[in-house]
Amino acid sequence: MFSLIIPVYNESQLIDDLVARVVAAVKTFAGDYELLFVDDGSTDTTVEQLLKHRLQNKKIKIISLSKNFGHQAAFTAGLEHATGDIVAMMDGDLQDPPELLAEMYAKITKEGYDIVSGKRTGRKGKNHRTFYTFLFHLLFKNIGGLENMENAGNFSMMTREALQALLSLKEKVRYMPGLRSFIGFNQGTVDYIRDDRAHGEPKMSLSKLFALATDAIFSFSRFPIRLCLWLGSVGTIVFLLAGIYVLVEKILGLAVLGWSSTLLSIYFLGSIQLIFLGIVGEYVFRIYKESQNRPIYFIRKIHEEETKV
Ligand code: UDP
Ligand code: MG
Repeated sequence: MFSLIIPVYNESQLIDDLVARVVAAVKTFAGDYELLFVDDGSTDTTVEQLLKHRLQNKKIKIISLSKNFGHQAAFTAGLEHATGDIVAMMDGDLQDPPELLAEMYAKITKEGYDIVSGKRTGRKGKNHRTFYTFLFHLLFKNIGGLENMENAGNFSMMTREALQALLSLKEKVRYMPGLRSFIGFNQGTVDYIRDDRAHGEPKMSLSKLFALATDAIFSFSRFPIRLCLWLGSVGTIVFLLAGIYVLVEKILGLAVLGWSSTLLSIYFLGSIQLIFLGIVGEYVFRIYKESQNRPIYFIRKIHEEETKV
């Protein structure tokens, strides 16, 4: 049994293409399969269209979340409801070519990998985000200390054992590619060129992407807090030396009325303190989130029974 999880949020323009391409691709390698569409609170006709396809193909299952929870939460919902022995996750905008699933499947079943991720070797079309994405992955690779992370996104496939490990990580702030890398196992990659979105606008706004990036960095890296400590120590030494200098000048009677240097150091110290209060705040916020212990998503309805729609 093979499960494919696809989060969709207001993707009515490309559902028909998506279903056609995905079904064709999955049929080539999997006998028994399920396609789990996680509707992340869509407000357009996405669900109606999926239900129409479901009339023809009962392997299409739909999990409707109670509102928009974000696509990492949608993936989590899908992973928790998947029943396959091998489970894959993929974006619903056809940027991840479904035809690649066969290659991933072969790597798992024939070459003994537990987790196979799509590794982007390039991108097609106009993509103003390439630079941000590049910067993010570079930063994340260097400060996150996680292997296999460069240019890996959500597109991936794993065995039931790996999935169980992934699902046992219960944190609320979820950055899937990071969690996937964290659990270990025998991990492989499949290279691909990322397509342009087939239709419609990106559903991850720049602010959602920014939130994802901060989640990724703050939940997987000690770097921000190290930076505080490091800059703080350097600052202390510098100001100690400056203090000695000021005292010596004073004693020698050379001191002038330097309001500019006073103001500058106040500004400097003030801004550094604000930055680090912000960084500490990020951690406190995340601790707060975890301690609230709220569910990651709520389900409004599941369409999955084989008999009725
Ligand atoms: N998505 C979602 N919930 C959201 C935002 C996006 O389920 O809040 C889905 C979206 O429908 C798509 C996938 O996640 O299938 C990736 O979204 P998008 O293409 O906008 O992200 P990007 O390619 O910019 O990372
Ligand atoms: Mg996309």
